[in-house]
Amino acid sequence: MLNPMRRIAWLLGGIALVALPASGAGLMELLDSMQPPRPERLELQLPALPSKPGRGKNWVGERLPKAGLSILVLAGHADSQRTSGSGTPGRAVDVGGARPMQQGITDELYWNLRTAKAVVAEGQRQGLDITFYDPGVRTIRNVQDPRTNWSVGQDHAAKGGYAVEIHYDAYAPYGIGAGIIPAVAFGFSVMDEALAKEFGAYPYDYRGMLGAPRRGVSLLEIGMLDGALEQGLRDPRRREATLNQIARRVVSALRQGLEQGSSIKAECLPTTSIAARCS
Ligand SMILES: [Zn+2]
Repeated sequence: MLNPMRRIAWLLGGIALVALPASGAGLMELLDSMQPPRPERLELQLPALPSKPGRGKNWVGERLPKAGLSILVLAGHADSQRTSGSGTPGRAVDVGGARPMQQGITDELYWNLRTAKAVVAEGQRQGLDITFYDPGVRTIRNVQDPRTNWSVGQDHAAKGGYAVEIHYDAYAPYGIGAGIIPAVAFGFSVMDEALAKEFGAYPYDYRGMLGAPRRGVSLLEIGMLDGALEQGLRDPRRREATLNQIARRVVSALRQGLEQGSSIKAECLPTTSIAARCS
């Protein structure tokens, strides 16, 4: 009779012998060959920050999105409500005392969601392979949570896809205005080059390189949430037309990026402000 410990050891050894074929390596190879091939993933690499903070477009987008992967559209601040990064309330609410478009979320998020959905609807109507992701949960404090915009966006970008998050900027004098803040993590994209032509461009190192660009997600600032833009969005009679016009501009730029590839180049004015106007 074996003592209990030796008996357990003997049993475990027996199980190991039964489980392993004559060659252990052979089994591993067999198991490996049964798994689907892993998708290739890009290395996350960040360029150094310039010695002086950049002004205007200090980058060139040349990387093409991988064929067969949809364009991923996100709504800025969709998972960061009730935090310091919840987005701008907009001038109408903050200065004018208007009621927020929806209780519990900033007006920026409200318009980011409406705009992102309008972009995807228009893109699909024009035949683009384009999808929208919404984490659904409005406050996720752990930035590495796999449900966040940036985790899903990073995963998409690491596979070679293009991910862009829609934003509206703070009202004057706090905001800067329209422009693309390019994704940095996996190389600059032709899609950002195309969006720069339509909306203008921020430097890649804006505010020391923001969290999303560091994770491969581009940020598209549609404009400051004030003036004619905010009025057009808030006026129920003009809302759909305003959203559709923005969506058409975004989709037209995305199509140009896909169609013209690395030959697309945004010409931008030399600038003394942060964002450059391009054409
Ligand atoms: Zn924002």
